[in-house]
Amino acid sequence: MTDEAPTSKACTKCGVVKPLGDFSKEKIKKDGLQKYCKACNSTMAAKWRAENPEKVKAKAAKYHAENPEKVKAKNDKYRAENPEKMKAIAAKYRAENPEKVKAINTRNSVQLSNSYVAGILKIPASQAPPKILELKREAIAMKRISKKIKQLTNPKKASS
Ligand SMILES: [Zn+2]
Repeated sequence: MTDEAPTSKACTKCGVVKPLGDFSKEKIKKDGLQKYCKACNSTMAAKWRAENPEKVKAKAAKYHAENPEKVKAKNDKYRAENPEKMKAIAAKYRAENPEKVKAINTRNSVQLSNSYVAGILKIPASQAPPKILELKREAIAMKRISKKIKQLTNPKKASS
């Protein structure tokens, strides 16, 4: 034994001797570090996540429920910083779930949701002033009503 503080230790998982910086801190341990290296930890965490999708989902849902503001801020930031990625994700989702997308679009159209109205205005829903959305929503509803009236009063012309 030596009095010198060790600068490296062996990971008990992969057995590789690594610098202490490659180990995460864990206060209750004698040396204040976890017994597995960071690489092994992340590998194990990824494996665990892959094997326990339901638990991961439940954990995320719990966090989401308890920290709605934090989650929203993080999501907004991510979306703002990765517009291309978001577009790709949306395109992939549309390609893989045409029925769901159709259902969502129909629902948005029927309910005149913020995203639907903002889409007509060609501005992102997150940047659309609520007052503008409200007015546009009313305008669309009015237009629909007048269209319906036209259909009822002049069915031949409207259906052409
Ligand atoms: Zn390791």
